[in-house]
Amino acid sequence: MTRKIALITGASRGLGKSAALHLAAQGVDIIGTYHSAAAEAQAVVEQVQALGGRAAMLQLDVRQSGSFDGFVGEVGRLLKDVFAQDHFNFLINNAGIGAHASFAETTEAQFDQLVAIHFKAPFFLTQKLLPLISDGGRIINISSGLARFSLPGYSAYASMKGAIEVLSRYQAKELGPRGISVNTLAPGAIATDFSGGAVRDNPDLNAMVANNTALGRAGLPDDIGGAISTLLADGSNWITGQRIEASGGMFL
Ligand code: NAD
Repeated sequence: MTRKIALITGASRGLGKSAALHLAAQGVDIIGTYHSAAAEAQAVVEQVQALGGRAAMLQLDVRQSGSFDGFVGEVGRLLKDVFAQDHFNFLINNAGIGAHASFAETTEAQFDQLVAIHFKAPFFLTQKLLPLISDGGRIINISSGLARFSLPGYSAYASMKGAIEVLSRYQAKELGPRGISVNTLAPGAIATDFSGGAVRDNPDLNAMVANNTALGRAGLPDDIGGAISTLLADGSNWITGQRIEASGGMFL
């Protein structure tokens, strides 16, 4: 049977890396993107290979929408040269940054950066990748628990995540005729490098998260990598147009 291929943005570390390793363990090959950490990205390639999979990494700055046509061309060439395929099966729009500023103090520059990374990039990157996604493929857009509950300081970031949740439902409707499912996966607070590693490294924040989470701790990358690989497993093919939260029950 032909192995499936997942394209994951921001696969060099954190949740994207965990998704790559969980999918590789499930027999899925990986095309990842990295922003600047080429060595970290190469280490992920080697970890996927150690699991018996194939992987390749491409550099991409998702703020540079003018580079997307060239990137799509690179993905097409990589599919042919490395994977001997014309299409890939799963797209995970994961790359992102955190930004903390009160609504009153959010600057236009911060807002524009968050729109570019968290909304414009998944919108147009996905649009341009459509010819390379196989019929019957699946798309996961990474949202956040912050799109459901409100914590001061995240109005712009969480609004972009809200936008991607709405977009996902429209994509599910419009791409359904091709058999492509689209869902949002919304992590709770997870201990990664995100936002300067705050959830992982700030004991007060980590405790606040744990105290407000039904399962009693902050999330770990594997909690999300596992949720993503489960959503892309064979038995999950009838799920589309949904927002699935993986937060351990945060702020229920
Ligand atoms: P992380 O900082 O560990 O990793 C982010 C990844 O995105 C990195 O690979 C980085 O290179 C990439 N990236 C950042 N800016 C980029 C750019 N301009 N162009 C291309 N790539 C870029 O963070 P993470 O926790 O793994 O976050 C992954 C996703 O999960 C993000 O979309 C984030 O909003 C979301 N999320 C994270 C948490 C959390 O608590 N960690 C919670 C909810 C949602």
